[in-house]
Formats: sequence, C-alpha cells, structure tokens
Amino acid sequence: MLVAQILRTKGDMVFTVGPGSPLAEACALLRARRVGAVLVREGTGPVLGILSERDVVRALADGPDALNRPVSEAMTADVVYAAPNDTVDALLAQMTDRRFRHLPVCEGDRLVGIVSIGDLVKEKIAETEAEAAGLKAYISAG
Ligand code: AMP
Repeated sequence: MLVAQILRTKGDMVFTVGPGSPLAEACALLRARRVGAVLVREGTGPVLGILSERDVVRALADGPDALNRPVSEAMTADVVYAAPNDTVDALLAQMTDRRFRHLPVCEGDRLVGIVSIGDLVKEKIAETEAEAAGLKAYISAG
C-alpha cells in the first residue's frame, strides 16, 4: 500500500501557521482542526518547520508565557518528508525509528498532504483484515 492511496481518501488538506504567530494561536488551530501537528510557513511560502502537540508541551515546561512566544521558537525546523510512492510499512518504520508521528508528503517541490501514524495504522489494519478474509475464503473454498 502506497501513501498516495491514503491521500486519495484523506485529501490534501494541510493546516499551517505563520512562524511569527504566538504559540497560543497554533494551539487554537490544533484544537479547532482536531490535528496533532501543523506546518509552519508564511502564506504559501516554503515550509519552515513543523509544530506538534509535543513541541507545545515542551515549550510550556518553561512556563505559561511560552504561549505568547512565536511558533518559530517551539517548532522543529529540520522537517522530514514522505513521497507519494513511499509504502505504509516503510513510513511506519521511519516514524518508529525517528520517534515522530507526522509526515508531510511532497511530490517534487509540491506539498500534497500530510499523514499521521494513525492514518498509517488504520490502513495497515484494513490491509491485514482484508488479507485474513482472503485467506479464510481460500481455506473454506478448499
Ligand atoms: P510528534 O510525535 O509528531 O508529535 O512529534 C514529536 C517531535 O518530532 C516534535 O518535536 C515534532 O516537531 C517533531 N516532528 C514531527 N514530525 C516531524 C517530521 N515529519 N519531521 C521532523 N520533525 C518532526
């Protein structure tokens, strides 16, 4: 299963926040959109970073004033991307190794979506169930 197939169902929506926006604004976006991470960019400019719930928790460990500080101070600037032709298995392995749960997907220079570990696990379970059903049907036909 390829990540492109997940995006066909999920769509290409990626929520973004500006690097100078206060962290509180990013928190409001995470809550309103019910997502665990947003990309940081100025308008339609290049991606400058990724901000996940974990970054918010880390920033808040320094005190509640962190909510007034710019997103750029809490984000991860070195963003790792997936490609549409990457397999679900390879991306699950990568997320486990690198200990993060989000991967923006790029086709060349173009951002075409974002997948979470939840999206990948859901697909993996569906695939495994379909395989099991196929095997059961094969066995009972024989
Ligand atoms: P997460 O598990 O996705 O909540 O993120 C854990 C940490 O990894 C946070 O510091 C994120 O900013 C960072 N992170 C999440 N996804 C990525 C990614 N695709 N590339 C680089 N860092 C990431």
